[in-house]
Amino acid sequence: MKWCSYEIEGETRVGVVEADQVYDVSDQLHTNSLLEVIAREFKPDIDLDVASVRALEDVKLQAPYRPLKNVICIGKNYEEHVKEMDTAGAGKLVIFTKAPTSVVGPDAIVERHAALTDQLDYEGELAVIIGKSGRDIQDVEDHIFGYAIINDITARDVQKQHVQFFRGKSFDTFCPFGPFIVTPEELEFPLSIRTDVNGENRQLGSTDDMIRPIDELIRTLSAGMTLEAGDIIATGTPAGVGHGMKPPVYLQSGDRVEVTISGLGTLRNDIV
Ligand code: MG
Repeated sequence: MKWCSYEIEGETRVGVVEADQVYDVSDQLHTNSLLEVIAREFKPDIDLDVASVRALEDVKLQAPYRPLKNVICIGKNYEEHVKEMDTAGAGKLVIFTKAPTSVVGPDAIVERHAALTDQLDYEGELAVIIGKSGRDIQDVEDHIFGYAIINDITARDVQKQHVQFFRGKSFDTFCPFGPFIVTPEELEFPLSIRTDVNGENRQLGSTDDMIRPIDELIRTLSAGMTLEAGDIIATGTPAGVGHGMKPPVYLQSGDRVEVTISGLGTLRNDIV
């Protein structure tokens, strides 16, 4: 199932997308929050035949939801990306987080933050959405609600100013998320990940190239630490970020970044 949040007449609604149509299921589910649907931890029983429907192109999609906690991010999880970056910490699992206030939706603007950074960069990533809370998780598939796209926007210079990545990863609008959350039965792994800037392909990878696959990430992250429904884990970016180009090419106002993952759609954002 392909879930979305969208805005209609100033109100957020929960939608199910099929064949370029959005079915409004908010009334059936008695909530306008996709996060709440996920947090209920059961497969919702919905009837699309009685839902009002609109063309996908006629609605304004929002981020699926703003998480209650920081977005958990994995760094250096693709070999070729490790090589294009400085190799500090290479070989170790890199884990950092992004502030929930950085989350924006598809087609939202990403702020250039020119007073704070000269090195704005993109990272197209597959995000895992936790569906069932748990600690010391072994049966990983039972705990995954679905998958989405995240663009782990980064101020490279700020990232390096501090011992932790947190600030350089967390400015407002630095976490485009969406356009949909797709449940696992609709996807066929491996997924391809590509990022284009102004129509030029920059990143092209496959989830098969992850150094640590999703089940290993979730086992490691949940060891001794509860992962809760609605938690988001961004699983790292393939090679091809602007920082890795020779010479580096950073994002500028007016640039359009599109991250596409097979089965998950395209997450498009303009830098302003
Ligand atoms: Mg990243």
